[in-house]
Amino acid sequence: MPIMHKKPPAPPDAFEHTRLLQGEFWHRIPAYAQVDEATFLDHLWQQKQSVKTAEELLSTIGSVASQEFIEDARRGFELAPMAVRVSPYAISLIDWNDPYNDPIRTQFIPVASKLLSDHPRLTLDSLHEQDDSPVPGLVHRYVDKALFLPLNVCPVYCRFCTRSYAIGPDTENVDKVSLAKTPAQWHDAFNYIAERPELEDIVISGGDAYQLPPKNIELIGNALLDIPHVRRMRFATKGPAIMPMKILTHPQWVDAVTNIVDRGRKLGKEVVLHTHFNSPNEITWITEKAMRVLFERGIFVRNQSVLIRGVNDDAHAMQLLVKRLGHINVHAYYVYMHDLVKGVEELRTTIQAAVDIEKFVRGSTAGFNTPTFVCDAPGGGGKRDVHSYDFYDRENGIAVYSAPSVKPGKAFVYFDPIDKLSPEIQARWVIPQMQEEMIRNAIRKAGLPTDELVLA
Ligand SMILES: *Cc1c(COP(=O)(O)O)cnc(C)c1O
Ligand code: SF4
Repeated sequence: MPIMHKKPPAPPDAFEHTRLLQGEFWHRIPAYAQVDEATFLDHLWQQKQSVKTAEELLSTIGSVASQEFIEDARRGFELAPMAVRVSPYAISLIDWNDPYNDPIRTQFIPVASKLLSDHPRLTLDSLHEQDDSPVPGLVHRYVDKALFLPLNVCPVYCRFCTRSYAIGPDTENVDKVSLAKTPAQWHDAFNYIAERPELEDIVISGGDAYQLPPKNIELIGNALLDIPHVRRMRFATKGPAIMPMKILTHPQWVDAVTNIVDRGRKLGKEVVLHTHFNSPNEITWITEKAMRVLFERGIFVRNQSVLIRGVNDDAHAMQLLVKRLGHINVHAYYVYMHDLVKGVEELRTTIQAAVDIEKFVRGSTAGFNTPTFVCDAPGGGGKRDVHSYDFYDRENGIAVYSAPSVKPGKAFVYFDPIDKLSPEIQARWVIPQMQEEMIRNAIRKAGLPTDELVLA
């Protein structure tokens, strides 16, 4: 008889990813106490009721948050470089008894008391997208793929948005703006793509494809499918994470995406959705139902998260997110280092934290549902596996990357947040000559040329 090694039964904790928030959870919020399910699931109601000012926040959550928090948020709204916009769905998922530590509050509602000074090397558009932009609304950085930005509005505004240089509301009525003025401008981007046979892969981002009216989803989708060398397309949207009900109550939008996916399939081309869940708390029974609609239609969904302090920089929270994504048939693709973005330094963390969390998460579930942790190298080097640094000076918080297939011969540098460094090192970062010396030393140790140095 062979000796059998029976695994002990999994503890109850091992099933946490399958336990999604149920019921009419929004009734916890005073303004939504009387809101029935049909209303809460209505995507137009969600858009109209989105919270955009401190006054709207106060009138929505009223007595459930402390006066101290409300005041802190009011000052936070004033100081924030990014417009605020939070869906009722997201508002309902925040633990208002402890808003300071809540992962959804942290992403969308700024509080003045938590703000830190920006890193001294931070610039607007740290990824230098403008430098790789041949026509307005197109970023052509990698050889075979490009990023198409057909709009600058989103269903919510994330405090940490990489494109805070471009993203923000023109007016309240989002659909009108993109209907009225954009299709003519998109033409130049389509022409550029058509003239570049090496472009096989187009990311349609923004802004957010959730805000594109159905006819523009089809216009853009068909224009790109008509270009023979375009083989892959992805529509990027934060929507499923913060307003999943749109997939249940805006059938014209889902049909438009389905039409493009189906037409692509007939042409042998891949069309998928890319979304942006950051916290396991964002995934509820509504999300599960919405993702089921996409799954049944054969629409593949990948997820890109950002590693955010206080949101998912805890190994267990990240593991739960990854397993929960698998549970709803969303493929965990990337976890990004938080870019160097103005006014949100308290949300960044270190390269070391990313390496540690990745180590913990890998092995928890299927390899294809395990995300790659990447750093989009400041200065335009593109995404690098966080582990692939040429040199990492942990003491001074400087990671040096190179990107031989993107910008050969150049060094790209990512900086850990200053407040995570020791007090002596923090003092060094105050002196510009010291900064220069620390950075040049790190690049030299990486074996890369400092003359080609691209600083953030
Ligand atoms: C992220 C990105 C892409 C897509 O990169 P993948 O690694 O294929 O997901 C394309 N262009 C730009 C400019 C990007 O930032
Ligand atoms: S949804 Fe995306 S583009 Fe819009 S604010 Fe958030 S991160 Fe930026």
